Amino acid sequence: MTLLDAMTWQGTLHSDGWVEPAGGTAPVRSPATGEEIAQVGVANTEDVTRACARAAAAQRAWAATGYAERAAVLRRAGQLFERHAAEIGDWIVREGGSIPPKAGVETDTAAQECYEAAALASHPLGEIIPSAQPRLSLARRLPVGVVGVIAPFNFPLILATRSVAPALALGNAVVLKPDPRTAVCGGISIARVFEEAGLPDGLLHVLPGGAEVGEALVADPNVRVISFTGSTAAGRKVGEAAARHLKRAHLELGGNSALIVLDDADLDLAVSAGAWGSFLHQGQICMTTGRHLVHESLSERYVERLAEKANHLPVGDPAKEQVALGPIIDEHQRDKIHALVTASVDAGARLAAGGTYEGLFYRPTVLTDVTPATPAYAQEVFGPVAPVITFTDQDEAVELARQTEYGLSLGILSRDVMKALALADRIPSGIVHINDQTVSDEAVAPFGGVGASGTGSRFGGSAANVDAFTETQWLTVRGTITRYPF
Ligand code: NAD
Repeated sequence: MTLLDAMTWQGTLHSDGWVEPAGGTAPVRSPATGEEIAQVGVANTEDVTRACARAAAAQRAWAATGYAERAAVLRRAGQLFERHAAEIGDWIVREGGSIPPKAGVETDTAAQECYEAAALASHPLGEIIPSAQPRLSLARRLPVGVVGVIAPFNFPLILATRSVAPALALGNAVVLKPDPRTAVCGGISIARVFEEAGLPDGLLHVLPGGAEVGEALVADPNVRVISFTGSTAAGRKVGEAAARHLKRAHLELGGNSALIVLDDADLDLAVSAGAWGSFLHQGQICMTTGRHLVHESLSERYVERLAEKANHLPVGDPAKEQVALGPIIDEHQRDKIHALVTASVDAGARLAAGGTYEGLFYRPTVLTDVTPATPAYAQEVFGPVAPVITFTDQDEAVELARQTEYGLSLGILSRDVMKALALADRIPSGIVHINDQTVSDEAVAPFGGVGASGTGSRFGGSAANVDAFTETQWLTVRGTITRYPF
């Protein structure tokens, strides 16, 4: 059985079937070839209103459904992600420009998210609290109702599923707005999996569309919680709008993560970690290593070997050949990357590798003679660019690492783990990896950033997911009605 057997999905997909979207249809193009690979239905604000109302109506019965039944749907969804991994993975490659191993990580993690969510359905949801009165006093967690999920193009399957699965497991309905550039692998595949898994009607709605559709989702009165993953600029707007509508927004935003290479680090391993951190998925990852901070005793050899590696990495169409880097998602992103690289060279940085492109294929790039003001170092590039800066002592490394508004991920490489831990304590970051680069994710780990990388909210693991997708209710129970003075 194939999951995605049509070349055209001209409806928006709801868990009770296809609906003709008021927003019409749009082509999905392969970034590697420019070829149209699907026509998908796109939503407009009318579709959002309709979907949110249907989600709210369906949610009440779902919240009252026993945990075993909810868990079974999530377990089946996990199995379906595994069974259809090759087919969904193929879309992640063709639609998102991913190399196949990265697509494999996405389908594995999506399955894992569903299995973790299945366990969440029976997780204890509250606590008994003391009361000065003769009564039972509880703080219990209830589903929020309808959760709006807005996801980006770069890890389209994981970044949608990490919210969709736990939100559903906890008794909510979900309206998902994938990025229109990855509507099939980041939206339709999820809708199809949950349809096959037997999710009851009306609980999951997938509405591909642009910013205006996201804005309508944030504003819709039926939506109580927004899970947003994307840029800091859009996240700010989402946060402002959510505050205006008095609803909770979980914001997972941009980054410019540092990898600190201390003087005692193994050089070869450090270079391998640095290359992976900067070049995986063409650097289009929120946790990408955007700044390499290297001790002066190693920096020259580090740049040399990183550049050598960059020069040897094959770049091309991952659907046709074995490559390390695929295409950038579109021309707009490519031009943004190239403008930052060019501005960096104009400002005095030197290209040790890359800095060129053909079509959407951007060569892995290494920049040296970098200062804190170098544009590709100071800003999030979201491309395969590794700016290397040098430090002389740990205090300087800390100062450099802290010079950013972001705080998503931090890697520190050293043979002295305690020294690395002490350094980590001085640098604000939502995620820290000692002796690893900055890119990593697991369904069980509480993922999130601080500063301009987010509000400190988290997805992943039972505690963070319960916090994100439930409301707390204080509930008291007395055996008899109490008598008051009047
Ligand atoms: P983007 O913010 O432009 O788009 C992300 C999603 O938000 C898309 O679905 C888009 O249609 C929607 N959107 C855009 N404007 C909106 C608005 N005003 N209201 C509601 N929805 C809106 O992001 P992008 O540039 O496509 O993605 C890359 C960015 O995402 C990078 O900054 C990256 O660091 C960040 N990101 C963060 C994480 C994380 O977990 N912290 C993960 C992946 C990507």
